[in-house]
Amino acid sequence: MAKPVPLLKEQTNKETEILVTHDTQCPFCSVQCKMQLLETKSKHRTSYQMIGKDNPTSKGRLCVKGMHAYQHTLHKDRLSHPLLKVNGEFVPITWEEAYETMTSQVKSIQREDGNDAMAVYGSASITNEEAYVLGKFARVGLRTKHIDYNGRLCMSAAATAASASFGVDRGFTNGLDEIPFSECIVLVGTNLAECQPTLMPYFEEARKHGALIIVVDPRETTTAKLADIHLKLKPGTDAALANGLLKTIIEEGFTDEVFLKERAEGFDDVKAYLASISLATIVNQTGIKEDDLIRAARTFGQARSGMIFTARGIEQQTDGVMAVRNFLNLLIATGKLGKPFSGYGAITGQSNGQGAREHGQKADQLPGYRAIENSEHRSFIADVWGIEATDLPGKGVSAFELFEKMDRKEITGMFLVCSNPVVSNPKADFVKKAIGKLKFFVAVDLFLSETAQLADLVLPTTSFLEDEGTMTNVEGRVTLREASVEPYGESKHDWQIIQDLARALGKEKYFSYTCAEDIFNELRKASKGGIADYYGITYKRLKNGNGILWPCPTLDHPGTPRLFDQTFHRANKKASMVVVPNEAFVPKEAPSPDFPLYLTTGRELAHYLTGVQTRSSPSLLARSFESFMEIHPETAGAYGIQDQSFVQLTSPQGSLVVRARYSDKTRQDTVFVPFHWGGQQNINRLVSANLDPDCRMPGFKVSVVKAEPLKQTR
Ligand code: SF4
Repeated sequence: MAKPVPLLKEQTNKETEILVTHDTQCPFCSVQCKMQLLETKSKHRTSYQMIGKDNPTSKGRLCVKGMHAYQHTLHKDRLSHPLLKVNGEFVPITWEEAYETMTSQVKSIQREDGNDAMAVYGSASITNEEAYVLGKFARVGLRTKHIDYNGRLCMSAAATAASASFGVDRGFTNGLDEIPFSECIVLVGTNLAECQPTLMPYFEEARKHGALIIVVDPRETTTAKLADIHLKLKPGTDAALANGLLKTIIEEGFTDEVFLKERAEGFDDVKAYLASISLATIVNQTGIKEDDLIRAARTFGQARSGMIFTARGIEQQTDGVMAVRNFLNLLIATGKLGKPFSGYGAITGQSNGQGAREHGQKADQLPGYRAIENSEHRSFIADVWGIEATDLPGKGVSAFELFEKMDRKEITGMFLVCSNPVVSNPKADFVKKAIGKLKFFVAVDLFLSETAQLADLVLPTTSFLEDEGTMTNVEGRVTLREASVEPYGESKHDWQIIQDLARALGKEKYFSYTCAEDIFNELRKASKGGIADYYGITYKRLKNGNGILWPCPTLDHPGTPRLFDQTFHRANKKASMVVVPNEAFVPKEAPSPDFPLYLTTGRELAHYLTGVQTRSSPSLLARSFESFMEIHPETAGAYGIQDQSFVQLTSPQGSLVVRARYSDKTRQDTVFVPFHWGGQQNINRLVSANLDPDCRMPGFKVSVVKAEPLKQTR
């Protein structure tokens, strides 16, 4: 709660000012920068300032989003009471009325349509405790198998790839402090400078120490300015590019034969496949010049240490899992794992992208990164929860597939927590239509987001300043975010809402927490012995602000900064290489005379996810107040599109209007549009619903469109 009032100060006008400091963490990206909110109160006004606080990850740095993160929490549009839709209008109701409504609707739906007719849709922006209790609520409270979350659209490809290659998925295999000493760094589809800006100094320092940096991206992003070699590939051809790099590395003798013999499997098959393909094919497929490809391969192959980082650019594709695995092949082939300054990093996007995928929100997962289809894992969690393993539902479906089930009326009710799927999902108009078919829809949120507006019942939740809990950052470091101000209006913490609903449904026996720490202590037991073992982590240990890197199996364990020193986490202790055929990576979406351009999407500096919070911050909105389409001037000229004019952008899914912005930093066959905007400017209305076959990630990064000047009508 709020810190003691530490300071009284006399100003020149003799007015007394009271300064209150609030310790917190930024609610936005996965760096989870520690910071302090300074609240200065006087008789006539209260002012605020965010100051970065030293910690091992961001070292006191903040980006523009963090500096203004308090603004949305004070916004006049924040929800302060439960709202029920009556005759198309929201009216305030009491919490008791809200719980009664939800309980009777859920019982009715499950009586008529079965337990699995209720879906739960979670978030990677909530705390570990809330992710854990939401997973338990779905399985024990509602007894439905249908739970998934928005992290499916964000990190699932990297998570699946790392689990398959290494047997464990933790964001970074090494501590951040090793980056500045790595000799060669490959950044694949990541725009750190805009998405995780406070991590940039690690890479800038590496450059100062002489590291060579290779950036793989169709756009010349702010991050690409760091690059010694920028491989500006055609969208969707990352896996083929990795084949070209691997082929050169093998043929020029840069592989680590001892590592391959002792610590890896599958190399011979990969080598045989690569011998059967030509670099010319890869050059043609990727659009990368052979000289550049060979130079990049030699640079990485010759370096004594090296790291590869991937993010949404490579992962949000219909073949994202295999594309990431092919870059992991590169690390394995050159033995750049389990050693100082060598390793892999999946640069998670959302604030709790790592922790939220470890503790049971995914359709196929139980806490501690246990698998819902593994009978041993089911029994372990059933024991912790005090239920029979046979009462645990099985595996459900992925985030987008939940909406397909709603469209078919197989799912008829939804409980949504802190997410905005009508903006974040592909084929967004379809998602909106599918939600419209539900018999009952409850949304928990800070604001009436584009999705919450569709709900029958909206429940107000607390902001990051008000809600205590742990988060697991991009490194896999578990941190404690303290609550520092009282809940706004009648809002409640997510975990309180979930618990109250479970109790209203008659499940009080399983939900009797008095605070977030109670939940964490149960989570610790549930994760004990699992891949993501948090057992040795306690609130008391986290209070020093430094966090602990999992696995941390005992109370005296220091945490694990570097993974794979001795073994990988697969059954045979070896890393797994896999053949990734080039032909599998022809993107499902290819330009045609009707849709001649690639569309790729991403973030910009001032905004976060679907913008519900950052668009409610006046300072951030002022920096970027509308969407745009970045287009190469020569491409624009060919289509008669003027700089700063409105453009009709059309894909096979639909059409929208957006302002053109000339940029010679993007490929001539590709346009870029950010994904932070709803309504008419929601770019996901144009993205198709093709999914990765393994992780069910939609192919956000490769769509096809046509761009035309908007016809003016009077
Ligand atoms: Fe730090 Fe990310 Fe917040 Fe920026 S958005 S302050 S980098 S946590």
